[in-house]
Amino acid sequence: MPDARINLLDLEPDTLHATLARHFAERGVKDFRVRQVARWIFEGDATSFEAMTDLPVEEREALGGAFDLYEPEPATVSVSEDATAKHLWRLHDGELVESVLIPAGDRLTLCISSQAGCAMACTFCATGWGGFRRHLTAGEIVSQFRGARRWAEANGYGPVTNVVYMGMGEPLANRDAVFASLTLLNRGYGFGARRITVSTVGVVPGIEQLAERPEQFGLALSLHSPEESLRRELIPLEKRWPIPVLMEALRKFDAAGGRRITFEYTMIDGVNDDLSLVPALAEMAHELHAFVNLIPFNPIPDRAWVASPMGRIRDFARGLEERGVDVFVREPRGRDIAAACGQLRTEKLGQALVQLGRDSR
Ligand code: SF4
Repeated sequence: MPDARINLLDLEPDTLHATLARHFAERGVKDFRVRQVARWIFEGDATSFEAMTDLPVEEREALGGAFDLYEPEPATVSVSEDATAKHLWRLHDGELVESVLIPAGDRLTLCISSQAGCAMACTFCATGWGGFRRHLTAGEIVSQFRGARRWAEANGYGPVTNVVYMGMGEPLANRDAVFASLTLLNRGYGFGARRITVSTVGVVPGIEQLAERPEQFGLALSLHSPEESLRRELIPLEKRWPIPVLMEALRKFDAAGGRRITFEYTMIDGVNDDLSLVPALAEMAHELHAFVNLIPFNPIPDRAWVASPMGRIRDFARGLEERGVDVFVREPRGRDIAAACGQLRTEKLGQALVQLGRDSR
């Protein structure tokens, strides 16, 4: 559990360098040690100061007295029949968050969480039902990347190729930590901005801020309906930033010349899969040059909703394609281990998760 010591994993590269430079200057130690420690963190994946073997023992001890390298612990790892691998991480205060590794061809996508719980209360999401617990720190966010990457390499999954902020929580409601974690992943750990995507249900100031960043991080919008009244029922945040306001922010993101926006659209049988919605959705996608990801709904406890039949999803996709929209029908992954957004922690709390241990593959 972290104490008053600064967790170096929380610090963006510039702050890390400045903090370490001060520390070593106070001890009268040459500043090449700063680069050494930073290298151990970002390239050497060090989890302790003792591991920094090219530093003198007294410097390792002094670092340990002043700083921490705190990472959440893996509570469970579960591997689905389709090789999707989920980690449940226990934070120092006992909160639980999840990350999911999704292998597909030569890609290995890591989905990470930005908050414990979520305040957005989307009606189709188990995390939303559990309520908000707390924001994650930047270090707790990047630690999911560090830990999952370590596990993936040790278990034959190869390197992580993409990172998506689509786990528990609304990333743009935790902007300071999430933006710091983006800088850390990109400039610290050297992970390409174009391979990182932030998913939001529509926090407009966050979208605008992301549009202003010089790096080309991707943006996915959880849309789920092009109609304001239906979207309000699915995503309460629609009341605060309704579709026309959202579109304004998305235009800014698109005009900034970064990557193409993705619309995420969960297909729920009889709820938001009526073909009459296709023209409005196509119009929005067209204007923003957005891709549309159609995702069969992953059922959640206490909700009678089910996924739209595949035939309906295909008709929906065809309708969009006929209107010139790029569509992708996403396969549901990891169903047997409840890999959909927010489901893992909820199940863990319900004691329903199968514990497979760290080396389950
Ligand atoms: S869908 Fe995302 S934003 Fe909505 S409640 Fe779930 S975790 Fe929160």
